[in-house]
Amino acid sequence: MKEKTIYEHLRDKGLSRRDFMKLCGTIAGMMGLEFSPPVKALGKLAHPTPAEVVARALTTKPKLPIIWLEFQDCAGCSEAISRSSSPSLAKLVLNDIAIEYHETLMAAGSQAEKAKEECMEKYRGKYVLVVEGSPTVADDGIYCVVAGKSNLDLLKEATAGAAAVIATGNCASFGGIPGANPNPTRACGVADLIKDKPVINIPGCPAIPEVTTGTILYFLIMGELPKTDHLLRPLTFYGHTIHDHCLRRPFYEAGKFAESFDDEGARKGYCLYKLGCKGPTTYNACAALKWEQGLSYPVQSGHPCLGCSEPHFWDGGGFYQGQSAALIPPESKTTAVAAGVGVAIGAALAGVNAAKKGRAKKALTSISAVGPGESGAKPISQSESKKEG
Ligand code: SF4
Ligand code: SF4
Repeated sequence: MKEKTIYEHLRDKGLSRRDFMKLCGTIAGMMGLEFSPPVKALGKLAHPTPAEVVARALTTKPKLPIIWLEFQDCAGCSEAISRSSSPSLAKLVLNDIAIEYHETLMAAGSQAEKAKEECMEKYRGKYVLVVEGSPTVADDGIYCVVAGKSNLDLLKEATAGAAAVIATGNCASFGGIPGANPNPTRACGVADLIKDKPVINIPGCPAIPEVTTGTILYFLIMGELPKTDHLLRPLTFYGHTIHDHCLRRPFYEAGKFAESFDDEGARKGYCLYKLGCKGPTTYNACAALKWEQGLSYPVQSGHPCLGCSEPHFWDGGGFYQGQSAALIPPESKTTAVAAGVGVAIGAALAGVNAAKKGRAKKALTSISAVGPGESGAKPISQSESKKEG
């Protein structure tokens, strides 16, 4: 029997056509949709709007199967998604647009394992594999074992039938905290191991939920992963530093710095660079998207950026240690700040903000009711791991 399209699935749950179109607009903004690839996706339509591109995909495609595996981590990325600032949208993506198997959210046991195996078989070559947590290669991967299988075997098995792989969080992207010195389990990034499938990294500690869901949606709509930087991070969300969009930036430019967390400068909201802020060298969307329904982000709340979306962030020079202003790299996007927020991030922001402001609230609520890159770790192949283990 022909599988239902996503639209048919949503319609059967009571979503009106009008709310569906609102939802398409929200999703288009959420994923920072660019215009050039959609022309190809729409065939005859030469200049479709982003919402039309999304609508076409959702009315013609079935749900996107996702297999979500969890290795060495704290489950913070799953936790962040389940408490996303756009909970209805996250729920919509994970329940009604995608997902078949989530290692942590599903009841554990043989039934969950069976569901995963059936999903891998049924959707061979079509599903997206999301990996949270770092793979470990020491001693053939025995330091992370699920259902009697080493994480290396699980990764190999799930990657074989995947159309693409999304590594969410710093652990899966670069090894993260499990990979910090002395790294006893030889934790590494997924892209260090997987060379025969497209891999994208969504680093962060945790990853920003809207960035993970936005990347999943991009693959669903466009049938490919978005453009990335040299660390395999999607440019839409990692094209600028925290420093580029930081609200404390005027104080930085004026040379006004907090010298301690409780001094006059801290109370006045001065720049946190001398307290160890790594915003100038950290590429992530926190300052643009913010967290918790756009309420704030760490630097706005008085805490320096720790650089959690960069490789080696745990070992990279320590936290809360002031750095010389001379260390700020020249490529920091001063001009981008002057020009305002970039187009792509602006589109993503508009979508997220639209969801936050409730413009698509009705659409979302009606659904939610129902419902290598260069890694910090030394590249290690599976054959090498056996040798070194
Ligand atoms: S150094 Fe940190 S606190 Fe200062 S402007 Fe840059 S990102 Fe903001
Ligand atoms: S502000 Fe920096 S350390 Fe904090 S979540 Fe964002 S990228 Fe990570």
